Order: sequence, then structure tokens, then C-alpha cells
Amino acid sequence: MKTPIKTDQEILENSMLEDDPNGNSSIKSNTAEKTSPRWGPQHKGAQELANLYSPGKRAQEIICVYSCIALMVLDFFLIIKHFRTERISVAFVAAFCGIITADFGSGLVHWAADTWGSVDLPIIGKAFLRPFREHHLDPTSITRHDFIETNGDNFMVAVPLLATLAYKFLTRSNHEIQQDFAWSAYLFLCSIFVAMTNQIHKWSHTYWALPRWVLFLQENHIILPRRHHRIHHVAPHETYFCITTGWLNWPLEKIRFWPSLEIVIEYLTGYKPRADDMKWAQKVD
Ligand SMILES: [Zn+2]
Ligand SMILES: [Zn+2]
Repeated sequence: MKTPIKTDQEILENSMLEDDPNGNSSIKSNTAEKTSPRWGPQHKGAQELANLYSPGKRAQEIICVYSCIALMVLDFFLIIKHFRTERISVAFVAAFCGIITADFGSGLVHWAADTWGSVDLPIIGKAFLRPFREHHLDPTSITRHDFIETNGDNFMVAVPLLATLAYKFLTRSNHEIQQDFAWSAYLFLCSIFVAMTNQIHKWSHTYWALPRWVLFLQENHIILPRRHHRIHHVAPHETYFCITTGWLNWPLEKIRFWPSLEIVIEYLTGYKPRADDMKWAQKVD
């Protein structure tokens, strides 16, 4: 039996009750909490951050989503066309490694965006760090985002990976493609899981009307389960950053991977981890 990373009490006291938005079972019922909510759509910082979602950002997301879907379809047909049944075991190993890589990548990007930089930074601040800050203040906002806003940025990361794969398939001889098939299968599955990460993350915040197959995948920990991701949403949001499958969260916590990285970066740069995240959390008027 694994020791819990956060106790139920810590989770209740330091996070938003997403499965009970009316707070009927909340242990926090004092008036101060009601007039000045620490989390949710009424939070001043969350509202300010939501208003910074711009038409330019929306356009970038639309372009990324459509080009990524086109490349996914093209690569899928190229993989099937070149697949040989004797490659099935290679394909399974590649799938597993691709998923592990995507999970680690999700943790690294999420940790970097949560921990460093600020919304005031030119270009990346408003376009790419803003959604991370908003998500901590109002975790349920993701459930109100449409397909484009949910997936635009992750699809953007997958585009160059899928484009590289398509280029290799289309410019190489059949012999070269067969020799490299394991690598191609790895890259394809890693790209698909990178692209799917924020959709999986959105499902981990959704407590109503999830399709049964999504519940099945969550309950069997094939994708990020809801209870598992709750551990990240406990202030100060310093652990469990992996959000594709979450498989790496426990081992990374046990080897103190994220705090060790933070100590090194703080020593080298002098920046305090999560300074911007805490600044937004404190915006009450
Ligand atoms: Zn986070
Ligand atoms: Zn989340």
C-alpha cells in the first residue's frame, strides 16, 4: 500500500471542491470564506486571467487544431500502410515508451509553466502561461472551455513531431521505413498522447456526464484519474504535475524530482518557484 502524498484533510482544506461546487460537504463554511472565495469562477484573479484570452490566441489555436488533425490522419494511414504483423511486439513496446515519454513531457511543461515565468512576460506570458495561472484559481474553468481552447496548445506541440514523421514516411524508401519502424511507432504514439493530454486533463476535472469509456479508462488508471489529479490541485500546487496518464507522479515524488530541480534553478537564477502563481492567488480586489 502506497503512503498517500496528501491526506484527505489537506486536500479538503487547500483545494476547491470540484465535485461539490455548492460546498455542501465543505469543512470550510465560515463567512470570510464565502465572501472571499479562494478558488472558483468568482475569484478576482481568475476573472482577470480569463479576460486576457484574446482573438489572436484563438486564431493560433484554430490553426494548430486543424493542422494537427490533418497530420494525425495522414500519419495514421502511413503507419497502417507500412505496418507488418511481425512488428506487433515492437509496436506495443513503442506504444508504452511513447506514452511514458508523453506523461513525462506533460509533467515537465506543466511544472515549468506553473513554477517559473510570469503572465507579464512578452508573448509567452499571456499566450501560454495565463491558462496555467487561471487553472489553479478556477480548476473548473477548463470544463467550460470548448475543444479549440482545450486542445489548441497541446496540438501545437504535436504538429512538428507529426510533421517530421510524415516527412520521413514520404521521403524514404520502403526499406528505410521498415528499418526505422519502431522509432516511427514510438514518435506517433508519443505525439498522439501529447496532443490528447489536455483533453484527458479536462476529463479529470469533469464530474458529470462523462462517457462510460472515459470512466473506464480513468478507473483503470489508463488515463489520468480524477482523484489522482486532485493531489496536484492542493495549494501550493507543488507536486503531481504529470497529466497524461499520471503514471510517473508517484515515482517522481518519491525521488523528490521537482523540488530538487527547483533548488538548482533557484540557486542558479535567484528566482523563487511559484512566485507569479502566488501573486495571482492573492488577488482579492
Ligand atoms: Zn498546475
Ligand atoms: Zn488540473
